[in-house]
Amino acid sequence: VQRTPVDHDKSIEAIRTFLQSKDCLSILPVSSKMIVFDTRLQVIKALNALVQNGVVSAPLWSSVESKFAGMLTISDLVHLMQYYYATTSSYEGAADDVEQLTLGNLRDIETAIEVLPPPLHSIHPMRPLLEACHILMTSHARRLPLIDHDDRTDVEVVLSVLTQYRVLKFIAMNCKETLGLQKTLLELNIGTYASNSDTSLEPLAVATMDTTVFDVVHQFSAKGISAVPIVDEEGAVINLYETVDVITLVRLGSYQSLDLTISSALAQRSAEFPGVITCSPKETLANVFSLIAKRRVHRLVMVEDEDKTLPNGQIRRKGALVGIVALSDILKHVIGFKDISIN
Ligand code: ADP
Repeated sequence: VQRTPVDHDKSIEAIRTFLQSKDCLSILPVSSKMIVFDTRLQVIKALNALVQNGVVSAPLWSSVESKFAGMLTISDLVHLMQYYYATTSSYEGAADDVEQLTLGNLRDIETAIEVLPPPLHSIHPMRPLLEACHILMTSHARRLPLIDHDDRTDVEVVLSVLTQYRVLKFIAMNCKETLGLQKTLLELNIGTYASNSDTSLEPLAVATMDTTVFDVVHQFSAKGISAVPIVDEEGAVINLYETVDVITLVRLGSYQSLDLTISSALAQRSAEFPGVITCSPKETLANVFSLIAKRRVHRLVMVEDEDKTLPNGQIRRKGALVGIVALSDILKHVIGFKDISIN
């Protein structure tokens, strides 16, 4: 009988060994639907297909070259909105243009607004999961296509896409060692935290109900983040605006939506929004994994669990924003990834 290690570091070691022992294919469901878009497809049609299939990204396929051509992700849509906002005087004109635009044209938009093209990484399905996790973290991509090569036809085959969420869910469901992760988020410094010196919330990117969607979309792009907490005057978290919310805006052709306030944009959000998941910075990583096992967690918003007096005498109220734990923050800790690009 194997005993569950209770020591945090030993548990982490055991999880890494587990990830090294499994191949990428093993985390995929036995049968699943795969949506792949031809780069000649119009952007609007692709967006409708994403929404109808309940997914937020898909691999692209160049039928001219018979090869994988990167991923369509929400970042592309954020860039598209920024481009039209910056370059067109008429919203109707922008909407007409988007009708014509193909997925292949998105790379030109990225060049025009001078942002980096999305990473083109992929991995063979039989490589170890731990290796896939390292590629995910190094490339700052949130998803990694599994690509096989058919030797008979000499054509690439996109089998599926690995996401940070799937990897963490797989660990949460299959590694009892997560029970041994008894250190807290704060102790492990997992996540991005508001400075403790005052109530300004720096370096967190936040918005209020009166901030415009344009400002928030700009923060997504400039800071490479996928959600911004919405806070009130006291810093209490009242909602969250996410990059996925942008899909609704682009689909409706609502380029004028960038002028809307967050408050009006949230009023248009579908009733399917699952809500903001909050936790205390004193939550153990073990509990975070048990939450991931049960719910569809895409990030955790950390809030103060009691009134706290800051060193300058200001008081941060119970329920006030303290930080954000992204899935990448958790995965980095689990695999021991040190981000050398940040200094
Ligand atoms: P993920 O990398 O899991 O897709 P994000 O893109 O939201 O999630 O997060 C990227 C990094 O930015 C993480 O280290 C996270 O802690 C940090 N981060 C996320 N949201 C914010 C925010 N609103 N303000 C400051 N930092 C953030």
